Amino acid sequence: MIDPNREQRFLGDWLADRDEPCPVCGYNLRACTAPQCPECGGALKLAVSMEDPSPGGWLLAVIACALAAGFDLIASLIYLVMMLWIAIVQGPLPASAVPMVMLMLASVLVPGVLCAIGLVLLLRKRKRWRTAPPVVRWKRGVAVLLAVFIPHALIGASWLSILLAQ
Ligand SMILES: [Zn+2]
Repeated sequence: MIDPNREQRFLGDWLADRDEPCPVCGYNLRACTAPQCPECGGALKLAVSMEDPSPGGWLLAVIACALAAGFDLIASLIYLVMMLWIAIVQGPLPASAVPMVMLMLASVLVPGVLCAIGLVLLLRKRKRWRTAPPVVRWKRGVAVLLAVFIPHALIGASWLSILLAQ
C-alpha cells in the first residue's frame, strides 16, 4: 500500500532545497510542502524519469526512412503511370527497351520498399533504441541516415547520367 502521507513527505523533502519548476505553469516549487502547485493549483507527485528522454537519433532515422520511402514510392507510381501512358499513346514498348524500363522502375521501387520496411522496424524497436545511451542513439541515427542517403545519391547520379546521355 502506498501511504499518501509518506509520498507527500518525500515530495516536500525533495522540494525543500531544490529549484524545480511546476511542469504546468513553471512556477518555482522550492520549499513547497503541499502536493499542489501554489500558483496554478495543479496536483503534484514525485516521479522517476529517464535521464535523457529525447527521441534524438531515433527521430532522425524515422524521418530519413519516411522521407525516402515516401519519395521513392511516389516516384515509382509516377514512373509507372508515365510508362503506361507512353505505351497507350505510342503503342507497346519495343522489347529492347523493356529491361531498361524495368531496371529504372526497380531502382526506385526497391529502395522505397526497403525504407518502408526500415520505418516499420524503427517504430517497433523504439523502446530498445530509447534505452541505449544518447551517444549510441545518435550514432545509430546518423548510420541510418547515411545508409538511406548514400544509395539514393548513387541511384540519383546514375539516373542523371543516363538521362543526360540520351
Ligand atoms: Zn503550477
